[in-house]
Amino acid sequence: MYKSTRGSAEAVTASKAILKGIAEDGGLYVPDYIPTIDFNIDELAKLDYKSLAYLVMSKFFTDFTEDELKACIDKAYDSKFITEEITPVEKIGDTYFLELYYGPTLAFKDVALSILPHLLKTSVKKQGIDKNILILTATSGDTGKAALEGFNNVYGTKIIVFYPVEGVSIVQKLQMVTHNGDNTHVVAIKGNFDDAQTAVKNVFTDDSMQKSLDEKDYVFSSANSINIGRLIPQVVYYFYSYISLYKKGDISKDEKINVVVPTGNFGNILAGYLAKNMGLPIDKLICASNENKVLYDFITTGTYDKNRDFFVTNSPSMDIIVSSNLERLLYFVSGKDSAKISELMKALKTNGKYEITEDMKKQLCDFYGGYASEKETTDEIKALYDNYKEIIDTHTAVASSVYNKYKAETKDSTKTIVLSTASPYKFPKAVMNAIDEKYSSLDEFELIKEMDKLSDYKIPASINGIEHKEVVHTKVCEKAEISQVVLDYLK
Ligand SMILES: *Cc1c(COP(=O)(O)O)cnc(C)c1O
Repeated sequence: MYKSTRGSAEAVTASKAILKGIAEDGGLYVPDYIPTIDFNIDELAKLDYKSLAYLVMSKFFTDFTEDELKACIDKAYDSKFITEEITPVEKIGDTYFLELYYGPTLAFKDVALSILPHLLKTSVKKQGIDKNILILTATSGDTGKAALEGFNNVYGTKIIVFYPVEGVSIVQKLQMVTHNGDNTHVVAIKGNFDDAQTAVKNVFTDDSMQKSLDEKDYVFSSANSINIGRLIPQVVYYFYSYISLYKKGDISKDEKINVVVPTGNFGNILAGYLAKNMGLPIDKLICASNENKVLYDFITTGTYDKNRDFFVTNSPSMDIIVSSNLERLLYFVSGKDSAKISELMKALKTNGKYEITEDMKKQLCDFYGGYASEKETTDEIKALYDNYKEIIDTHTAVASSVYNKYKAETKDSTKTIVLSTASPYKFPKAVMNAIDEKYSSLDEFELIKEMDKLSDYKIPASINGIEHKEVVHTKVCEKAEISQVVLDYLK
C-alpha cells in the first residue's frame, strides 16, 4: 500500500496512488516499505529491458496483474526508442555514461512518460472510474514535451502543460508549442518552474477545483515525478546499467558502483536511492546541481533554504529551487516519521526553510552533493569534445563536472556511471558555443546542422526541421490564472 509522506491521508493501492498523483494532505505517496530484489546477477543478466522492467515494477505496482503490467511495458518500450537497448551505456575515458535520451523527445523523461499513460489508463479501469482524466503538468523544459507525446490522443485523457515563459531552450519550447494533438494544450506561465509547480500543486489540492472538475466528469492526475507512476519506471535503468557493465566484464559480481545524477526535482536520483535500497550494489549517490545549488547546500549542511536568487542557466531542466521529491527521501531517512515531515514542509511553506535532525543527517551519508558553475559546465563539454570527440548536453556536463570534482576531492576510484539525461541537440547554442567560439554567430538551427557534422549521432528525426513547423500554442498566463485556464479549456 501507499501512504502519504505527511501521514493524514488514507493508505491506497498502487493504481489509486497513480490515479491521484498527489495525496489529499499535499504529501507524496510512498510505499509502505521498499521491496527488495534477490540480487542474483547471473540470472538478471539474462533479462532484456522489458523483462527487467517487469521484475522491478511488479514489486511496486502490486495490484496490477501480470498481464496488465506486461501490456503496459510492451506498449511503452517499442520502436519509439531508437535503440533496442532502450538505455545503452557508453564508456568515455574511464567513466560510463548511461544514455537515457533515445526516446521520442530526446530526454530521460521519455523512459517514464512512455509508460505512465498506460499505467494510468489501466488504473482507471482497475478503480472502476467512469471519468476522464485531466493531466496537469508543470515543466522545467523536458517533462512537457515527453508528457504531450505520451498522452497524445490517449482516449479519455486531456493534458495541459505549463512551462515557464523564460528559461526553456528554444528547441524545448518549439517541441511543445508546435505539438498538435486533439487532447493537448500548452500554456506559458509568467514565472519560473517553481512558480508553475507550486501553482499546479495548489490546483490539485483545491476543493472547489476538485468539485468543478467532478461536475465536468473529470479527475485530476499528474505527469510530474510527484506521481509514483513516473518515479518507479526510472528505477529500472539503474538495474539495467549495472547489469550492462557486468555483462561487458567491466565489473565483477557484487562490485559496488557510484552513480552521478544531474538533479532538479530529485526524482531521478530518488529512483537511484530506491534501486540501492532494493539491493543494487550502489555505493555513493552523487547529486549534481547547477548554480541553483539548494540541494548541494542541503546535503552539506542539513538546512534547506529556498530564500535565494533563482538563476536561469544553460541547464534549464535543473533550474529548480523547491525539489519536490526530496520530501520522499526525508520520509525514509526520518524512519517514516510523517509528523516530522509535515512539520518540515510547513516550515518550508511559511519560512522558506527547515533544518533536519542530526539523526536524519547521518542517514544522508550515501549522498554526496556537488555543483557546477556555468563556466565549469561549458568547460566540461569542451573537454569531452576535445579529448574524445564526444558531444554531451549541458545537464550531463553538470554531472560530469561534479564527478571530476568528487574524484579530485575523495580520490575514490570506484567505477562510476554518469546519467546522461538529454540529447545535445536540445541545447545546440550552449553546447556548440562551448565547443568553439567560432559558432557564436550562428542561430540554433544552423548549429543543429553543425553539430550533426561533428558527431556520429545524427540529427534525430523528431527535431529535424522543427523551425518550419506551425506554432499552435501561443497562450501566456499569470500564475494566479491557472485555475481559470483549466476551467476554460474544459468548456
Ligand atoms: C528533468 C531533468 C533533469 C532533472 O531530473 P529530476 O528528476 O527533476 O531531478 C536533469 N536533466 C534533464 C535533461 C532533465 O530533463
